[in-house]
Amino acid sequence: MKRISLLLAALFLSAAGCVQQELSPKTVQKTESIMGTEVTVTVVARTAGEGEAAIDAAMTEIKRLDAMMSLYKDDSEITGVNLAAWKRPFRVSPEMIEVAAEAEKIARLSNGAFDVTIGPLVVLWQMGLKEGKVPTDEEIKRILPRVGYWNIVIDKKASTLFLKKPDMIMDFGGCAKGYAADKAAEVLRKQGIRNGIVAIAGDIRAMGRREDGRPWRIGVQHPRKENKTLTVLELSDKSVSTSGDYERFRIVKKKRYHHILDPRTGKPSQGMESVTVIGDRGAVIDPLTTALFILGPGKGMKMVKDLGCDAIFVDDRGRVAATEGIKIDR
Ligand code: ADP
Ligand code: MG
Repeated sequence: MKRISLLLAALFLSAAGCVQQELSPKTVQKTESIMGTEVTVTVVARTAGEGEAAIDAAMTEIKRLDAMMSLYKDDSEITGVNLAAWKRPFRVSPEMIEVAAEAEKIARLSNGAFDVTIGPLVVLWQMGLKEGKVPTDEEIKRILPRVGYWNIVIDKKASTLFLKKPDMIMDFGGCAKGYAADKAAEVLRKQGIRNGIVAIAGDIRAMGRREDGRPWRIGVQHPRKENKTLTVLELSDKSVSTSGDYERFRIVKKKRYHHILDPRTGKPSQGMESVTVIGDRGAVIDPLTTALFILGPGKGMKMVKDLGCDAIFVDDRGRVAATEGIKIDR
């Protein structure tokens, strides 16, 4: 019982998305720290041993993708792309092409609100905020011309990426987790698992059902009230992604600066506290959620519906907007 409550506490602490379930011997769960965050995999298996082996394989897959797509590793593929893909088309793995292609699609649909070439701005803000400094308008203006997804050339056939400008930085921070959750679920399936959950912080893939045959219950955290959920989703074979300003931010001179940047202004986007999207594929909804956090429901709701997804928006006045069918807790 103690183990169960501790595990549940850990899940609640991961805030952006939390998984609530009754654990029993055949439901096996493990948490590891990967991709700079907490990864929890839960499976329903015939035996604990089978469940643990499947979870280990899923974790290994997430580590493999992290080693490919992390901006913070000197030997990752994405670092290789950023260093050399402006000289000539740079050969990458099919996974990198797939993520880049999904990112490009969402960039186009969101009119550039989501932009995987946001890297130079991310670096500028991270370096400044680390020392309690906010980048000046002048510094931002100098960096902005380096951001523009239209300067990436994706050649699927040759499996290459080419950057048209030398000082661009691709950053998969806003889209790799959803993709990795999909891929880890695929690995679980190959291991014979039909029912389970892969949760990479706020990017969650729910496979099948719980051990008792009911859908998985996933609580969507309120962005400002720590112990309150906006709603509890009941999901089966769906993905959920949450982007918020409440986990990764710094306060400088009483102002909150979070990690989602608006490519139009070069500054942390304004107006939203959290956005959650429910859809069929993590690779699509992870970048979509980041885009919607910038666009808000006014511009974003049509995009959600066109893509056949559901969404919950909370703005900075605490107002909630959601697609029909989502029941909000009051
Ligand atoms: P989280 O990483 O907290 O799950 P997101 O999926 O929204 O949240 O991704 C935020 C990350 O995406 C940032 O840390 C940064 O690396 C990157 N990013 C920030 N702004 C943008 C943007 N406008 N388009 C694409 N990626 C972005
Ligand atoms: Mg995202």
